Amino acid sequence: MESDGAKSESKEYVDVIHEKDLKDILIKLEIFESIQKNEVFCYICKNVINLENICAIFVKNGEIHIICGENHCYSEFLKLKEDEDD
Ligand SMILES: [Zn+2]
Repeated sequence: MESDGAKSESKEYVDVIHEKDLKDILIKLEIFESIQKNEVFCYICKNVINLENICAIFVKNGEIHIICGENHCYSEFLKLKEDEDD
């Protein structure tokens, strides 16, 4: 539990990812296999996430969430980010 250090929360967000680093990040977060099994869904629209449509990753309350490449989802993601940065 990381109860103290509220400021670190916004740092949990992972920036928009580059394809090159994608696999490494996904493996590090232990979700690469889940994605290959179509077990990961977009946080916003609940579409199945795959290596083609994955756009951004963020961690909230210790849980990993993925954003797909839909414009709508990405703008929602940016809104979430702004809220957290407040
Ligand atoms: Zn989506």
